[in-house]
Amino acid sequence: MITAADYRGRFAPTPSGSLHFGSIVAAVGSRTDALAVGGEWHLRIDDLDPRRVAPGAIDAILQCLESLGLTWDGPVVYQSRRHDAHRAAFEQLRRDAPVYRCTCPRSRIARAGLPGIEGLRYPGTCRHGTADPGAPASWRLDVRGDPIEFLDRSLGRYVQDIDAATGDFVLWRADDIPSYHLACAVDDVLDGFTDIVRGADLAASTPRQILVRRWLGAHEPRWMHLPLVRHPSGEKLSKQTLASAVDTTRPATVLCHALAFLGHAPLPDLVGAPVAELWAWAKEHWVPARLPVAPDLSETAG
Ligand SMILES: [Zn+2]
Repeated sequence: MITAADYRGRFAPTPSGSLHFGSIVAAVGSRTDALAVGGEWHLRIDDLDPRRVAPGAIDAILQCLESLGLTWDGPVVYQSRRHDAHRAAFEQLRRDAPVYRCTCPRSRIARAGLPGIEGLRYPGTCRHGTADPGAPASWRLDVRGDPIEFLDRSLGRYVQDIDAATGDFVLWRADDIPSYHLACAVDDVLDGFTDIVRGADLAASTPRQILVRRWLGAHEPRWMHLPLVRHPSGEKLSKQTLASAVDTTRPATVLCHALAFLGHAPLPDLVGAPVAELWAWAKEHWVPARLPVAPDLSETAG
C-alpha cells in the first residue's frame, strides 16, 4: 500500500518541441498516480543539451500543462542548472565505479558491428586503455555483471543484460555534457523521487539508470512504465514522427482522451465537464491495474 507520506513523483519532458498526446498521457498517468495517494508531483525540464532545446518550447510546455490542470508542486527544476551536481556525481563514479575514458569515433564502433537495442552497441574497445591519449574523450561505465532486474508496477518483472543491450554506455560526453542516463539518475536521486512513472519507451533505459543509482549508493524507487500511444502506422508518437502538438483550446477533451487511453474513461456525464472536475474524478477512480498492457514489451518483461 503506497501512502502520501512516501510518494514523490515527477514529469520530466525534454523541450525539443511542444508536448504531443503521448507526452500528455505520460504526464496525466504520473500525476494521477501521485494524486490518488495524496502524494507530490513535480516538474523537471530535461534541457541538458542546449542544441536540442527548441526556441519557445519551454514556455509552450508550461502553458500546455497549466491549461490541462497538470499543476505541479514546488518550483520547476531545470536540468541545465544542475551541471555542478552532475559533475560531482560523475567524479564520485570515477572514483568508485569501473569508469573509463573512450576515444572511439563512431566509425570504430560501426566497424565492430555489434547489434544492440538502440542501434550498434559499444564493443568495450577502450576498457583496457586507449591508444590515442590526446583525442577528445567521453567516459563510459563498464556494465559487465549480473543482468539488471526490476519489478515494474505495470509491466511486471523486467530483466536486461545491459552489456548485450547497449554495451558500456556513456556517463560524460566529450563535449562536457553529462549523458541523459547520468543526469536523469542523479536528478531523480537529488529530488528524492520515490516513484518514476513514465512512457514504456523509457523502460529499456531504466536498467542503465538503476546501475548508475546503485554505484551512487542510492535507494531504488518504484517504477511504472505506461503504455505508449502509437501512430496509426504502429510507430510510437514522437517529435520525429511529427505527432502534432495537443489542442490546448479544448483541454477537457484532451484530458478525457488521455484518461481513456489509460483505461480510465470518465463516465459519460463528465464529458464536457471542466478540467478541475475531471481531475477530481481521476484522483478518486485511479486503479493502475486497469492500465492497458504494452504487448511490444513482452520479450523482456514477464
Ligand atoms: Zn572506446
